[in-house]
Amino acid sequence: MRVPMIAGNWKMNTTLNEAMELVNEIRQGLGQIDNVDKVICPPFISLAAVKELIRGSSIKLGAQNIYFEEKGAYTGEISPLMLAHLCEFVIIGHSERRLYFNETGGITNKKIQAALKVNLKPILCVGEKLEENEAGRTEEIVTRQLGASLAGLDYPTGLIIAYEPIWAIGTGKAATGTQANETIGLIRHNIVELYNERAGQDVRILYGGSVNADNATEFINQPEIDGALIGGASLKANQFLGIIKQAAEIKNNLSG
Ligand code: PEP
Repeated sequence: MRVPMIAGNWKMNTTLNEAMELVNEIRQGLGQIDNVDKVICPPFISLAAVKELIRGSSIKLGAQNIYFEEKGAYTGEISPLMLAHLCEFVIIGHSERRLYFNETGGITNKKIQAALKVNLKPILCVGEKLEENEAGRTEEIVTRQLGASLAGLDYPTGLIIAYEPIWAIGTGKAATGTQANETIGLIRHNIVELYNERAGQDVRILYGGSVNADNATEFINQPEIDGALIGGASLKANQFLGIIKQAAEIKNNLSG
């Protein structure tokens, strides 16, 4: 069975001190939860300090982005080699990167390759815009995004995909559990088509878009959904912990 994952994307929020406070609060409130992967993705500048603060806990660390070159004259960029000893995960192709920084499928593809080279596990984000959703093009869009991002790659062991409809991100207007489950089922089918049955069974696919402690169960309860990628609500320790605890409870009920 796939281990559920609850991942927090802090985006461009928290100073170093705020990040340290937030991670301390999360660590203190977490208790013993073994059956859920808990991942936080603070801004680059806080990764080293946060890594120290989570040492000995079950919290895992991810970065929010990566550049695809190893080193060189790329002012302001962060390379895979710089992240390799800090993090286990890296978010790639978030819709905000696609929208504000012109990231194409070709770029996400290079970033995934670069991450895999240093054993970072990619959390690949896909999702459609509101107008695409309304035009019934969700399937076409996510299929195209997946195809472009994974083109030419063997199945990346440890790959995580986050289905994040753009109209649901930061809007307070989440998809329904049923909608998200349907699209995530389709993404899983795509992985089977691109690779094989085994890959489709192994890949963890999260839902992201206005998830909070009030609506998380609706998503995590769905058979195709393996957890959540959370923006706004991951900046509040009680919300983030509430979501993790819901995931742990659902998992316990399923296995018990
Ligand atoms: C995100 O940015 O990945 C996200 C899901 O944001 P929010 O939870 O705030 O909608």
